[in-house]
Amino acid sequence: MAQNIKDKVIVITGATSGIGEASAQLLHEKGAKLVLGARRIEKLETVQSDLKDRVVIQKTDVTKPEEVESLIQLALSEYGRIDVLINNAGLMPQSFLGDNQIEEWNQTIDVNLKGVLYGIGAAVPAMRENKSGHIINIASIAGHQVNPGGAVYCATKYGVRALTEALRQEEAILGTNIRTTIVSPGAIDTELLDHITNDELKEGMASVYEDAIKPEEIAQTIVTAIDTDESTAINELVIRPTRQIP
Ligand code: NDP
Repeated sequence: MAQNIKDKVIVITGATSGIGEASAQLLHEKGAKLVLGARRIEKLETVQSDLKDRVVIQKTDVTKPEEVESLIQLALSEYGRIDVLINNAGLMPQSFLGDNQIEEWNQTIDVNLKGVLYGIGAAVPAMRENKSGHIINIASIAGHQVNPGGAVYCATKYGVRALTEALRQEEAILGTNIRTTIVSPGAIDTELLDHITNDELKEGMASVYEDAIKPEEIAQTIVTAIDTDESTAINELVIRPTRQIP
């Protein structure tokens, strides 16, 4: 295996909990230089002070393109380059379509889908200039199969997979050396379920999460995806708890 993480400049959105925080910790351990964004600045400050060096943070709401652009600019001004962007920020409200939860639909699409687009749009030009880079988008099992209540969440995650594959093909045509990876986790023990407002659907979802695995397992797969030779791209990873059925 290549030793391809030390000194890499890695930007992570949604780095205040769950998969984003665990990835920040493991990538830091492997020697990466980190640029971390999320909305809860106090939590970002805690993550930063735990890691001590090689970390800069910025309050970032991924629904605001100018804030995502500014996070990427922070990587460039602080470290002079951006090697990896992990578009991780996400939320998973659940409701039946006929319940007409327009606000939740918009928020889910804005964070999970448009937030990823803003990240790609902001980071790819600098990566093209360097003729090197890696976009890692966190999708989901919900990007491979649908469940009642998960229509909009699933639509965003199918969308993330579609746009990541399109990006892969486009950059391959252009010969930019930009790698892409879609990471599709199953049930992971994070704060994701906390934001489900429909109690019945939350309870149903909780049963799928009985065997949930730790976010550190996803962090490990992200390390694997980055830690290959630049000539090689791991384009898609699906990671479930061994006992998960759907
Ligand atoms: P968490 O709820 O623990 O973490 C979500 C992160 O996203 C937080 O750091 C949160 O930070 C951030 N976030 C939410 N909204 C915004 C926003 N508008 N702008 C910036 N950051 C935002 O959940 P996970 O770690 O589980 O989720 C990470 C990703 O993994 C998501 O994309 C999720 O869909 C995906 N995933 C998770 C699975 C699971 O079972 N846990 C399964 C499959 C996929 P803050 O609130 O500080 O802004």
